[in-house]
Amino acid sequence: MKITGIKAWQIDLPLKEGRYSWSNGNFVEIFDTTVVAVETDEGVTGYAECCPLGSAYLPAYARGVRSGIREIAPALIGLDPTNLGAINRAMDSALRGHAYVKAPLDIACWDILGKAAGQPLYTLLGGAAQEQIALYRAISQEAPEVMARKIAGYRAEGYTKFQLKVGGDADEDIARIRACRNILEPSDVLVADANTGWTRAEAARVVAAVADLDVYIEQPCPTYEESLSVRRRTARPFVLDEVIEGPQMLARALADDAMDVINLKISKVGGLTKARLMRDMCVASGTLMTIEDTWGGDIVTAAIAHLALSTPAEFCFSATDFNSYGTRDIADGAPKRVDGFMTACDRPGLGVTPMIDGFGDPDICFS
Ligand code: MG
Repeated sequence: MKITGIKAWQIDLPLKEGRYSWSNGNFVEIFDTTVVAVETDEGVTGYAECCPLGSAYLPAYARGVRSGIREIAPALIGLDPTNLGAINRAMDSALRGHAYVKAPLDIACWDILGKAAGQPLYTLLGGAAQEQIALYRAISQEAPEVMARKIAGYRAEGYTKFQLKVGGDADEDIARIRACRNILEPSDVLVADANTGWTRAEAARVVAAVADLDVYIEQPCPTYEESLSVRRRTARPFVLDEVIEGPQMLARALADDAMDVINLKISKVGGLTKARLMRDMCVASGTLMTIEDTWGGDIVTAAIAHLALSTPAEFCFSATDFNSYGTRDIADGAPKRVDGFMTACDRPGLGVTPMIDGFGDPDICFS
Protein backbone atom coordinates (compact mmCIF):
# COMPACT_ATOMS: atom_id res chain seq x y z
CA MET A 1 0.00 0.00 0.00
CA LYS A 2 1.25 3.50 -0.85
CA ILE A 3 0.26 7.01 0.24
CA THR A 4 -1.09 8.86 -2.81
CA GLY A 5 -2.50 12.05 -1.28
CA ILE A 6 -2.70 14.16 1.88
CA LYS A 7 -5.47 16.67 2.52
CA ALA A 8 -6.27 18.93 5.48
CA TRP A 9 -9.20 21.13 6.44
CA GLN A 10 -9.31 23.99 8.97
CA ILE A 11 -12.45 23.85 11.12
CA ASP A 12 -13.73 26.11 13.90
CA LEU A 13 -14.95 24.46 17.09
CA PRO A 14 -17.02 26.84 19.26
CA LEU A 15 -17.44 26.05 22.97
CA LYS A 16 -20.71 25.32 24.79
CA GLU A 17 -19.50 27.41 27.75
CA GLY A 18 -18.38 30.22 25.41
CA ARG A 19 -14.87 30.49 26.82
CA TYR A 20 -12.17 28.23 28.32
CA SER A 21 -9.73 30.04 30.64
CA TRP A 22 -6.55 28.88 32.38
CA SER A 23 -3.41 30.33 33.97
CA ASN A 24 -1.75 33.66 33.13
CA GLY A 25 -4.98 35.13 31.73
CA ASN A 26 -5.03 32.75 28.75
CA PHE A 27 -8.34 31.80 27.14
CA VAL A 28 -9.83 30.38 23.94
CA GLU A 29 -13.36 31.04 22.65
CA ILE A 30 -13.31 29.20 19.31
CA PHE A 31 -10.86 26.35 18.86
CA ASP A 32 -9.05 26.10 15.50
CA THR A 33 -8.73 22.43 14.62
CA THR A 34 -7.22 20.67 11.60
CA VAL A 35 -8.67 17.45 10.15
CA VAL A 36 -6.21 15.43 8.08
CA ALA A 37 -6.90 12.75 5.45
CA VAL A 38 -4.17 10.40 4.21
CA GLU A 39 -5.23 8.68 0.95
CA THR A 40 -3.80 5.46 -0.49
CA ASP A 41 -3.60 3.59 -3.77
CA GLU A 42 -5.83 0.86 -2.32
CA GLY A 43 -8.75 3.22 -1.71
CA VAL A 44 -8.31 3.18 2.09
CA THR A 45 -8.23 6.67 3.65
CA GLY A 46 -7.03 7.40 7.18
CA TYR A 47 -8.22 10.39 9.20
CA ALA A 48 -6.93 12.32 12.19
CA GLU A 49 -7.30 15.68 13.91
CA CYS A 50 -4.92 18.06 15.71
CA CYS A 51 -6.10 21.00 17.83
CA PRO A 52 -3.61 23.01 19.93
CA LEU A 53 -4.90 24.73 23.08
CA GLY A 54 -4.47 28.20 21.60
CA SER A 55 -0.96 29.45 20.82
CA ALA A 56 0.33 30.16 24.34
CA TYR A 57 -0.11 26.79 26.06
CA LEU A 58 2.62 24.65 24.46
CA PRO A 59 5.11 25.49 21.68
CA ALA A 60 2.33 24.66 19.20
CA TYR A 61 -0.29 26.70 17.31
CA ALA A 62 -3.12 25.91 14.94
CA ARG A 63 -1.66 27.54 11.83
CA GLY A 64 1.60 25.74 12.66
CA VAL A 65 -0.16 22.38 12.24
CA ARG A 66 -1.07 23.25 8.66
CA SER A 67 2.26 24.92 7.89
CA GLY A 68 4.12 21.86 9.17
CA ILE A 69 1.96 19.44 7.20
CA ARG A 70 2.84 21.38 4.03
CA GLU A 71 6.51 20.88 4.96
CA ILE A 72 6.25 17.13 5.68
CA ALA A 73 3.56 15.88 3.26
CA PRO A 74 5.77 15.64 0.13
CA ALA A 75 8.14 13.29 2.00
CA LEU A 76 5.30 10.86 2.77
CA ILE A 77 3.86 10.47 -0.75
CA GLY A 78 4.72 6.97 -2.00
CA LEU A 79 5.49 5.50 1.45
CA ASP A 80 3.63 2.53 2.98
CA PRO A 81 1.30 4.03 5.65
CA THR A 82 1.08 0.70 7.52
CA ASN A 83 4.84 0.88 8.28
CA LEU A 84 4.51 3.30 11.20
CA GLY A 85 8.24 3.18 12.05
CA ALA A 86 9.22 4.19 8.51
CA ILE A 87 6.54 6.92 8.48
CA ASN A 88 7.86 8.40 11.73
CA ARG A 89 11.49 8.24 10.57
CA ALA A 90 10.54 9.96 7.30
CA MET A 91 8.72 12.72 9.22
CA ASP A 92 11.73 13.21 11.54
CA SER A 93 14.04 13.44 8.50
CA ALA A 94 11.79 16.01 6.80
CA LEU A 95 11.28 18.27 9.83
CA ARG A 96 13.19 18.33 13.12
CA GLY A 97 10.97 18.55 16.21
CA HIS A 98 7.42 19.90 15.90
CA ALA A 99 5.90 16.73 17.36
CA TYR A 100 2.37 18.12 17.23
CA VAL A 101 2.58 18.61 13.45
CA LYS A 102 3.51 14.94 13.01
CA ALA A 103 0.76 13.66 15.31
CA PRO A 104 -2.21 13.80 12.90
CA LEU A 105 -0.14 12.24 10.10
CA ASP A 106 0.94 9.40 12.44
CA ILE A 107 -2.63 8.89 13.70
CA ALA A 108 -4.11 8.88 10.17
CA CYS A 109 -1.62 6.13 9.26
CA TRP A 110 -2.72 4.16 12.35
CA ASP A 111 -6.31 4.58 11.11
CA ILE A 112 -5.24 3.08 7.76
CA LEU A 113 -3.42 0.22 9.52
CA GLY A 114 -6.57 -0.58 11.52
CA LYS A 115 -8.79 -0.46 8.44
CA ALA A 116 -6.34 -2.67 6.48
CA ALA A 117 -6.21 -5.16 9.36
CA GLY A 118 -9.97 -5.00 9.97
CA GLN A 119 -9.29 -4.26 13.66
CA PRO A 120 -10.16 -1.37 15.97
CA LEU A 121 -7.11 0.60 17.06
CA TYR A 122 -7.46 -0.43 20.69
CA THR A 123 -6.71 -4.02 19.57
CA LEU A 124 -3.56 -2.90 17.73
CA LEU A 125 -2.47 -0.71 20.69
CA GLY A 126 -2.36 -3.67 23.07
CA GLY A 127 -5.92 -4.98 23.25
CA ALA A 128 -8.88 -4.00 25.40
CA ALA A 129 -7.72 -3.60 29.00
CA GLN A 130 -10.85 -2.00 30.47
CA GLU A 131 -14.52 -1.85 29.50
CA GLN A 132 -15.16 1.83 30.01
CA ILE A 133 -12.94 4.85 30.44
CA ALA A 134 -13.38 7.19 33.41
CA LEU A 135 -13.45 10.83 32.32
CA TYR A 136 -12.48 14.03 34.08
CA ARG A 137 -14.05 17.44 33.56
CA ALA A 138 -11.85 20.50 33.25
CA ILE A 139 -13.27 23.50 35.12
CA SER A 140 -12.34 26.79 33.47
CA GLN A 141 -10.69 29.38 35.75
CA GLU A 142 -13.26 31.68 37.36
CA ALA A 143 -14.16 32.91 40.84
CA PRO A 144 -14.09 30.13 43.49
CA GLU A 145 -17.88 30.00 43.96
CA VAL A 146 -18.50 29.89 40.19
CA MET A 147 -16.08 26.97 39.81
CA ALA A 148 -17.70 25.14 42.73
CA ARG A 149 -21.14 25.66 41.14
CA LYS A 150 -19.92 24.31 37.80
CA ILE A 151 -18.42 21.25 39.50
CA ALA A 152 -21.79 20.56 41.12
CA GLY A 153 -23.47 20.77 37.70
CA TYR A 154 -20.99 18.44 35.99
CA ARG A 155 -21.13 16.06 38.96
CA ALA A 156 -24.88 15.82 38.40
CA GLU A 157 -24.09 14.76 34.79
CA GLY A 158 -22.06 11.81 36.12
CA TYR A 159 -18.46 13.02 36.33
CA THR A 160 -16.55 12.09 39.51
CA LYS A 161 -13.14 13.51 38.54
CA PHE A 162 -12.52 17.24 38.20
CA GLN A 163 -9.54 19.33 37.15
CA LEU A 164 -9.56 22.91 38.36
CA LYS A 165 -7.79 25.50 36.30
CA VAL A 166 -5.73 27.39 38.92
CA GLY A 167 -2.32 29.01 38.40
CA GLY A 168 -3.68 32.49 39.08
CA ASP A 169 -3.40 34.53 42.27
CA ALA A 170 -2.17 32.11 44.93
CA ASP A 171 -4.64 33.20 47.63
CA GLU A 172 -7.57 32.98 45.22
CA ASP A 173 -6.31 29.57 44.06
CA ILE A 174 -6.30 28.33 47.66
CA ALA A 175 -9.92 29.54 47.93
CA ARG A 176 -10.77 27.81 44.62
CA ILE A 177 -9.36 24.48 45.80
CA ARG A 178 -11.11 24.70 49.20
CA ALA A 179 -14.48 25.73 47.73
CA CYS A 180 -14.43 22.89 45.21
CA ARG A 181 -13.18 20.15 47.55
CA ASN A 182 -15.86 21.23 50.00
CA ILE A 183 -18.76 20.32 47.71
CA LEU A 184 -17.33 16.93 46.62
CA GLU A 185 -17.78 13.47 48.13
CA PRO A 186 -14.68 11.74 49.55
CA SER A 187 -14.65 9.29 46.61
CA ASP A 188 -14.51 12.13 44.04
CA VAL A 189 -11.13 13.11 42.57
CA LEU A 190 -9.96 16.73 42.53
CA VAL A 191 -6.89 17.96 40.63
CA ALA A 192 -5.59 21.53 40.90
CA ASP A 193 -3.85 22.24 37.59
CA ALA A 194 -1.73 25.40 37.68
CA ASN A 195 -0.64 25.01 34.03
CA THR A 196 2.82 26.44 34.87
CA GLY A 197 1.23 29.58 36.36
CA TRP A 198 2.91 29.70 39.79
CA THR A 199 6.38 30.72 40.86
CA ARG A 200 8.04 28.26 43.24
CA ALA A 201 7.21 30.57 46.15
CA GLU A 202 3.54 30.77 45.17
CA ALA A 203 3.37 27.01 44.66
CA ALA A 204 5.01 26.43 48.05
CA ARG A 205 2.33 28.62 49.69
CA VAL A 206 -0.53 26.84 47.92
CA VAL A 207 0.63 23.28 48.61
CA ALA A 208 1.18 24.15 52.29
CA ALA A 209 -2.26 25.75 52.55
CA VAL A 210 -4.06 22.72 51.08
CA ALA A 211 -1.97 20.08 52.87
CA ASP A 212 -5.08 18.91 54.77
CA LEU A 213 -7.12 18.37 51.59
CA ASP A 214 -7.43 15.39 49.25
CA VAL A 215 -6.20 17.12 46.10
CA TYR A 216 -3.70 16.37 43.35
CA ILE A 217 -1.28 19.17 42.37
CA GLU A 218 -0.56 19.46 38.62
CA GLN A 219 2.26 21.25 36.78
CA PRO A 220 2.78 24.09 39.27
CA CYS A 221 5.66 25.91 37.56
CA PRO A 222 7.03 26.51 34.05
CA THR A 223 10.15 24.35 34.23
CA TYR A 224 10.78 20.75 35.20
CA GLU A 225 13.32 21.79 37.85
CA GLU A 226 10.96 24.25 39.57
CA SER A 227 8.15 21.69 39.54
CA LEU A 228 10.46 19.01 40.96
CA SER A 229 11.33 21.41 43.78
CA VAL A 230 7.61 21.79 44.60
CA ARG A 231 7.08 18.03 44.34
CA ARG A 232 9.73 17.53 47.04
CA ARG A 233 7.95 19.97 49.40
CA THR A 234 4.49 18.37 49.33
CA ALA A 235 2.92 15.04 50.24
CA ARG A 236 0.01 15.65 47.84
CA PRO A 237 -0.07 13.34 44.79
CA PHE A 238 1.70 15.12 41.96
CA VAL A 239 1.00 15.39 38.22
CA LEU A 240 3.33 16.58 35.46
CA ASP A 241 1.94 17.60 32.09
CA GLU A 242 3.46 20.39 29.98
CA VAL A 243 7.11 19.46 30.66
CA ILE A 244 6.68 15.75 29.78
CA GLU A 245 6.95 16.31 26.06
CA GLY A 246 8.42 12.95 25.00
CA PRO A 247 9.87 9.56 26.01
CA GLN A 248 13.28 10.95 27.02
CA MET A 249 11.78 13.50 29.40
CA LEU A 250 9.52 10.80 30.83
CA ALA A 251 12.55 8.54 31.46
CA ARG A 252 14.32 11.38 33.30
CA ALA A 253 11.25 12.20 35.38
CA LEU A 254 10.73 8.53 36.31
CA ALA A 255 14.37 8.30 37.44
CA ASP A 256 13.87 11.42 39.60
CA ASP A 257 10.55 10.18 41.10
CA ALA A 258 9.21 13.52 39.85
CA MET A 259 5.50 12.62 39.72
CA ASP A 260 2.77 10.09 40.46
CA VAL A 261 0.72 10.82 37.33
CA ILE A 262 1.48 12.24 33.88
CA ASN A 263 -0.88 13.87 31.44
CA LEU A 264 -0.23 12.01 28.21
CA LYS A 265 -1.44 14.29 25.44
CA ILE A 266 -1.27 12.44 22.13
CA SER A 267 -0.41 15.41 19.89
CA LYS A 268 2.12 16.83 22.40
CA VAL A 269 4.28 13.69 22.03
CA GLY A 270 3.86 13.27 18.26
CA GLY A 271 0.98 10.81 17.80
CA LEU A 272 -0.09 7.32 18.81
CA THR A 273 3.30 5.68 18.05
CA LYS A 274 5.12 7.73 20.74
CA ALA A 275 2.09 7.90 23.05
CA ARG A 276 1.87 4.10 23.09
CA LEU A 277 5.59 3.85 23.96
CA MET A 278 5.14 6.35 26.82
CA ARG A 279 1.95 4.60 27.99
CA ASP A 280 3.88 1.32 28.20
CA MET A 281 6.76 3.03 30.08
CA CYS A 282 4.21 4.35 32.58
CA VAL A 283 2.55 0.95 33.05
CA ALA A 284 5.96 -0.69 33.53
CA SER A 285 6.92 1.87 36.19
CA GLY A 286 3.60 2.06 38.05
CA THR A 287 2.87 5.61 36.92
CA LEU A 288 -0.73 6.69 36.35
CA MET A 289 -1.86 8.57 33.27
CA THR A 290 -4.51 10.97 32.20
CA ILE A 291 -4.84 10.05 28.53
CA GLU A 292 -5.96 13.01 26.47
CA ASP A 293 -4.83 15.67 24.02
CA THR A 294 -4.39 19.43 23.93
CA TRP A 295 -7.95 19.88 22.60
CA GLY A 296 -10.09 18.69 19.70
CA GLY A 297 -13.42 17.33 18.55
CA ASP A 298 -14.81 13.93 17.59
CA ILE A 299 -11.68 12.54 15.91
CA VAL A 300 -9.31 13.51 18.73
CA THR A 301 -11.79 12.01 21.21
CA ALA A 302 -11.83 8.74 19.24
CA ALA A 303 -8.01 8.49 19.30
CA ILE A 304 -8.00 9.13 23.07
CA ALA A 305 -10.62 6.41 23.55
CA HIS A 306 -8.60 3.75 21.72
CA LEU A 307 -5.37 4.47 23.63
CA ALA A 308 -7.23 4.67 26.95
CA LEU A 309 -9.29 1.50 26.40
CA SER A 310 -6.05 -0.44 25.79
CA THR A 311 -4.58 0.86 29.08
CA PRO A 312 -5.26 -1.07 32.30
CA ALA A 313 -7.83 0.74 34.48
CA GLU A 314 -5.49 0.97 37.49
CA PHE A 315 -3.06 3.09 35.43
CA CYS A 316 -5.68 5.05 33.48
CA PHE A 317 -6.29 7.83 36.01
CA SER A 318 -8.70 9.58 33.64
CA ALA A 319 -9.29 10.68 30.06
CA THR A 320 -11.07 13.52 28.27
CA ASP A 321 -14.18 13.59 26.06
CA PHE A 322 -13.33 16.82 24.25
CA ASN A 323 -16.30 16.36 21.91
CA SER A 324 -18.68 17.13 24.79
CA TYR A 325 -17.12 20.61 25.32
CA GLY A 326 -17.88 21.92 21.82
CA THR A 327 -21.03 22.68 19.87
CA ARG A 328 -19.97 21.15 16.53
CA ASP A 329 -19.93 17.46 15.49
CA ILE A 330 -17.25 16.74 12.90
CA ALA A 331 -17.41 12.93 12.60
CA ASP A 332 -19.99 10.14 12.78
CA GLY A 333 -19.30 7.21 15.08
CA ALA A 334 -17.31 9.15 17.71
CA PRO A 335 -17.39 8.03 21.36
CA LYS A 336 -20.09 9.71 23.41
CA ARG A 337 -19.95 10.15 27.16
CA VAL A 338 -22.46 8.20 29.24
CA ASP A 339 -22.45 9.52 32.80
CA GLY A 340 -18.74 10.01 33.57
CA PHE A 341 -17.49 7.36 31.13
CA MET A 342 -16.89 6.64 27.46
CA THR A 343 -15.70 3.67 25.44
CA ALA A 344 -14.01 3.12 22.08
CA CYS A 345 -15.93 1.81 19.10
CA ASP A 346 -15.37 -1.64 17.59
CA ARG A 347 -15.20 -0.59 13.94
CA PRO A 348 -11.78 -0.89 12.21
CA GLY A 349 -9.22 1.88 12.76
CA LEU A 350 -10.41 4.92 14.69
CA GLY A 351 -13.95 3.92 13.73
CA VAL A 352 -15.09 7.44 12.85
CA THR A 353 -16.30 8.94 9.56
CA PRO A 354 -15.52 12.67 9.21
CA MET A 355 -18.40 14.81 7.89
CA ILE A 356 -16.29 15.98 4.96
CA ASP A 357 -19.26 17.25 2.95
CA GLY A 358 -19.63 20.02 5.50
CA PHE A 359 -15.92 20.99 5.58
CA GLY A 360 -15.72 22.83 2.23
CA ASP A 361 -12.64 22.74 0.03
CA PRO A 362 -9.48 21.41 1.72
CA ASP A 363 -6.91 24.00 2.86
CA ILE A 364 -4.10 21.60 1.96
CA CYS A 365 -4.08 19.15 -0.94
CA PHE A 366 -0.95 17.13 -1.86
CA SER A 367 -0.79 14.23 -4.29
MG1 MG B 1 -2.67 19.86 32.62
